[in-house]
Amino acid sequence: MRRMTPVARCIPLALGAFLLLGAADPTPLAFAPWINGTAASEPETQVQAIDRDTFVIRQSVKTNFEAPFLYLIFGRDRALLLDTGAGGLKIRPAVDRLVADWRARHGGRTIRLTVAHSHSHGDHHAGDDEFRDRPDTDVVGLKPADVAAFFHFADWPRDVAHLDLGGRVLDVLATPGHQPAHIMVYDARTRLLFSGDMLYPGRLYVPLNHFDDFRASAERLAAFAKTHPVRALLGAHIEMTTTPGKDYPMEAPVHAGEHGLALAPAAIEELRAAVAKAGPVPAIDRHADFIVYPVPARPND
Ligand SMILES: [Zn+2]
Ligand SMILES: [Zn+2]
Repeated sequence: MRRMTPVARCIPLALGAFLLLGAADPTPLAFAPWINGTAASEPETQVQAIDRDTFVIRQSVKTNFEAPFLYLIFGRDRALLLDTGAGGLKIRPAVDRLVADWRARHGGRTIRLTVAHSHSHGDHHAGDDEFRDRPDTDVVGLKPADVAAFFHFADWPRDVAHLDLGGRVLDVLATPGHQPAHIMVYDARTRLLFSGDMLYPGRLYVPLNHFDDFRASAERLAAFAKTHPVRALLGAHIEMTTTPGKDYPMEAPVHAGEHGLALAPAAIEELRAAVAKAGPVPAIDRHADFIVYPVPARPND
C-alpha cells in the first residue's frame, strides 16, 4: 500500500493544475518527487496519476540503472500500456493493481489491455513475457513491421495512425532514428505527447547510420505539433540533472537532483533545429534540457 501513497497525493495536485491552468497553458505537470535511488530503500515501482485515466509508472533505479518511465492510458474499452520496463523486477503487479482499481471504479467493466512499446530496446520490453498469458491482452511485436501492422499504418513512417481506446483516440507517430521501431503517442485529451527515447531530459542517442531517419522524424514531429496542441512531453528516462546541460554519468546508480520528467513543447522545435543544422558528421550537442548524442552505427538495429 505504501507505494500507492504518491498517487493519492498527486491526483488533487494534477486536477487542480488542470483547472487553474486552462487549455493552452504549457506549464509543466505537477508531479511529486520521483523515486531516484537516494533513499536507503525505495519501492520497485512508483505510480503517479495525471488524471483518473492516465498513469505514470517509474521503475526504481535500484532495480535497473535505466530507471524507465512507463505509461498506462485508459479509455472506455481499452487501456494502452506503453513499455514494460527494463527487467530486474516483476512489472505486471503494478499494472494489474492499476487496472483493478480502474475496474473497481467502473462497475467491474472488462477492459482490454494493449501492451505496446516506445521502441524495441531491451530496457522497454523486458517485462513483455509477464503479459503473454494475461487475459484480454494484446502484446505488440517489436519489429517496425509488427508495429506498423498493429496500428494500421498505411505508409510507415510518414502517416499518423490511431488507437481508439473507446472515447479516447490516441495518435501514433512513427519516429524511427533512435531505433527503427520507435513511436510517439499523442493524447488529444490531455495534450500530452509520450515521447519515448527520442526526446526526453537526457542523452538522445542516435546511431550515425540512422541520423537521417532521426532528422526526418524530428521534422515530421515538428509539423505534427503545429496542428496539435502539446502541453508537455513525457519521455522514457531522466538523465539530466537540475543543472542546465549537465547529465549523470553513464549507468549512474543514484539520480540526486533530477531534472523534471516533463519537457516543455518548445523542446520539439529546439530538437528539430539542432538536428537540421548538424553536419554530415554530427557531434554531441548539449542543450539545457537534453543532449543530442550521436553514437556509432548499429547496423542491425
Ligand atoms: Zn532506446
Ligand atoms: Zn531507453
